Amino acid sequence: MESPEYSANLPGRLLVLDDDVGVSATICAIADRAGFETRSTTRAEEFFQLVADWQPSHLIVDLVMPDVDGVETLHRLALSGHQGIVIVTSGLGGRVLEAASRAAAENGLRVSGVLPKPFTPARLRSLLHHEPENSKRKPGGSDEPAPVSAEMLAAALAQKQLCVHYQPKITCATEKVVGFESLVRWQHPERGMIFPDQFISLAERHGHIAELTRQVFDISLAWFAANFLSSDLKLAINMSPIVLADAQFPAWIQQACTRYGVAPSQITLEITETSSMENPVAMLEYLTQFRIKGFNLSIDDFGVGYSSLVQLARLPFSEMKIDKMFVMSAATSIESQKIAAAVIGLADALNLNVTAEGVEDAWTLEFLRDLGCTHAQGYFIARPMPPESALVWLRDREGLKAS
Ligand code: C2E
Ligand code: CA
Ligand code: CA
Repeated sequence: MESPEYSANLPGRLLVLDDDVGVSATICAIADRAGFETRSTTRAEEFFQLVADWQPSHLIVDLVMPDVDGVETLHRLALSGHQGIVIVTSGLGGRVLEAASRAAAENGLRVSGVLPKPFTPARLRSLLHHEPENSKRKPGGSDEPAPVSAEMLAAALAQKQLCVHYQPKITCATEKVVGFESLVRWQHPERGMIFPDQFISLAERHGHIAELTRQVFDISLAWFAANFLSSDLKLAINMSPIVLADAQFPAWIQQACTRYGVAPSQITLEITETSSMENPVAMLEYLTQFRIKGFNLSIDDFGVGYSSLVQLARLPFSEMKIDKMFVMSAATSIESQKIAAAVIGLADALNLNVTAEGVEDAWTLEFLRDLGCTHAQGYFIARPMPPESALVWLRDREGLKAS
């Protein structure tokens, strides 16, 4: 099906699928006054027929109907590749609605929001006029980066094509810079910059992660030592748990720090839990060794994947990072706000520092500060920057503070 192009100047076409004809009539009346052409139906088959024939620009789908499964309807709509704007509605609680609309957006629909019943005309009008961010990139889409191979990565390591960008981290309460996180990039001679999501798990699967980690440590420690030896700034470096299975690593990292004159207490190792932690006892031993040597340990991506309360209680972490998934959506999702608050409360109870990553606006930074979150990181503060730009950024910022 060709996806129609919608112009902001044309009146929209709204199609409503709801078993309650009273609700549909109300929605249509409000939309009509807002300049929309409207149709409604109570049956899924007729809904899909109208989607194909009438090509609506906006769709309102009721989640709960006697004979129709709303989640299935949204799924089918996503499969059809429909590019209209979707609003999900129901009388169920916000939690179910948010989950259904998230699934729809993940499947590629352009969801402008949820409409819990009962609703106000103002809420409906604002959803009808809200332009959602472009839905997720589709696999095979033109902006999907071409995959990289293990051979390419091996060559990149041999030719030292990796570089590191640095993202600042601040104290929420004072907004003072406390350090940087190292984030690896691959500067490919033809393709340009390749991001770690494209090659870290490949490196893990093909036995290149130890070499990659060594190179990142070398580059990061050299930069840090050249600029911050006498400061109280800290440097966070990501470490794959697979590297921890290598018994040589605690000693190697310690030697690297000694070589550059960096104290282990200036380094935080950020570790993301994965299912690959096959030997929990060895893991416990390695992590304990790092702590004894004076390194700080952070549990990364807390709240998603395999990070769990058990691991947090069992392993000697000194910090946790709330996954950016909850932080980025805090401004628009009550659920995310509650999860962020719970994680910060947990860190406080366990006497751990807590960093929120993915802070994208002033509201979120203030929200985190009010909750007592220790540190923050995110595009609102600064993006990851090449080494020279990170120094300039820091100088400018400290200059501003001093004046
Ligand atoms: P991570 O450790 O969770 O790092 C945070 C990611 O979020 C980074 O992506 C960063 O650029 C991005 N980010 C930071 N602030 C914001 C924000 O406000 N909004 C949004 N939307 N994103 C933000 P990046 O650099 O692409 O790295 C992705 C992941 O790759 C990292 O996630 C980390 O797990 C892994 N990684 C990066 N460097 C290394 C490394 O040297 N070794 C290992 N083992 N993994 C690495
Ligand atoms: Ca990290
Ligand atoms: Ca993360």
